[in-house]
Amino acid sequence: MAEKTNAFEMAQRQFDHVADQLNLDNEVRELLRWPMREFSFRIPVRMDDGTLRVFQGFRVQHNDARGPNKGGIRWHPAETIDTVRALATWMTWKCAVADIPLGGAKGGIIVDPATLSVGEKERLSRGYMDCVWKLIGPRNDVPAPDVGTTGQMMSWMMDEYSKLNGEYTPGVITGKPVGGGGSLGRTEATGFGVIYNVREAMKHLKMDPGKSVAAVQGFGNVAQYAAIGFTEILGGKVVCVSYWDRDDKVSYTVSRDSGIDAHFLMSITDQYGSIDKEKAIKAGYAIEPGDAWIAKDVDVLIPSALEGQINAETIKKISPRVKMIAEGANGPTTPEADQVIKEKNIFMIPDFLCNAGGVTVSYFEGVQNDMNFYWSREEVIEKLDQKMSVAFAGVLDVSVKKGVYMRDAAYMVAIDRVVKAMQLRGWC
Ligand code: NAD
Repeated sequence: MAEKTNAFEMAQRQFDHVADQLNLDNEVRELLRWPMREFSFRIPVRMDDGTLRVFQGFRVQHNDARGPNKGGIRWHPAETIDTVRALATWMTWKCAVADIPLGGAKGGIIVDPATLSVGEKERLSRGYMDCVWKLIGPRNDVPAPDVGTTGQMMSWMMDEYSKLNGEYTPGVITGKPVGGGGSLGRTEATGFGVIYNVREAMKHLKMDPGKSVAAVQGFGNVAQYAAIGFTEILGGKVVCVSYWDRDDKVSYTVSRDSGIDAHFLMSITDQYGSIDKEKAIKAGYAIEPGDAWIAKDVDVLIPSALEGQINAETIKKISPRVKMIAEGANGPTTPEADQVIKEKNIFMIPDFLCNAGGVTVSYFEGVQNDMNFYWSREEVIEKLDQKMSVAFAGVLDVSVKKGVYMRDAAYMVAIDRVVKAMQLRGWC
């Protein structure tokens, strides 16, 4: 996480900026600027060496006017209540802009999962669920994976909830592995969703996808499938990805001018998105300092790591060739950097539109759990593409008609839908 970036302040500033343009009533602003409910709890876990360690956990429910709250659980050493608040708020906008009938929530634990054994991860997953199970459920709040959490952890949590609830309840959590209540297509959903947005934006900008070059930040779930999609769906070239190196405690950019092979790099990447540097060098990749990705001579930047990565400092390094930024991560761009991007007339696909593919397929997963009937991968991917294309077109339409920045247009679409639902329910 970049220093001095308070994600929640950023989320509130973005909201205020659009609320001013929409002349939103003060009462409505008061409802939407803050989460409706916040839970903070201590999770005791017996460690393998017999000691007891107490972890700090959070669950924040921002707004459920349009349907059950929805949002991932992040395990990260730098997690804070403000990060969780911001991510919960963005989830409300994300579900609204994708037009899926869900609200916004997020959870977190302050922990580096790479420091835990498998048994400790299972006990912490179950311990988290023991603390929140009364607050969540298929009809009021449905968690999912995020940074630092996996499908296996979702399975343990679903099992714990089912035991406490007294019945098999797969719909309490999404992002479960296939065969354990998960949906085909969920793994690639966020990254592919990013690429469907990029494809639609390229049509609008009259760019040739086959001649386009991209730089990706991160190499976790989102970045991996965004990189694969950019080459395999669009026919373009990705020249770098990046990752956080746990041993060296710095980030690195891994690049190859002729184009990276995402499948090969995935084969030398661990479950937390850290690449084996030595093996990459042996295979002919260059290893550069972490923020080298942003200075690459490319058409498209796809930040897919953490929030605050494109900020007042890093934006100075951006190449004049960049025509588009597709935000795979949540909140990767600070308001200061946004200002520069607007001035440079770079096309922005804002986070809660760009990365909405994950929650869209999570929604499909919940629907399949409810029906106890599962779709083919082709069906899921086709429905995902359709949802993303319609969402992009709706935001672009507002952006063009009102002459506003794409992020503002996405907020306008989302706020309008949430306010309408609140009005219909008599909340405002
Ligand atoms: P992940 O844990 O799978 O991967 C994160 C990646 O970022 C790893 O490769 C890690 O090494 C890298 N990273 C961390 N700090 C870095 C730094 N300072 N510089 C460079 N790389 C760094 O996480 P993910 O699921 O891919 O999520 C990435 C982002 O996308 C987050 O903002 C997350 O909230 C958002 N997101 C994820 C999903 C999803 O379905 N996974 C959906 C929507 C949004």
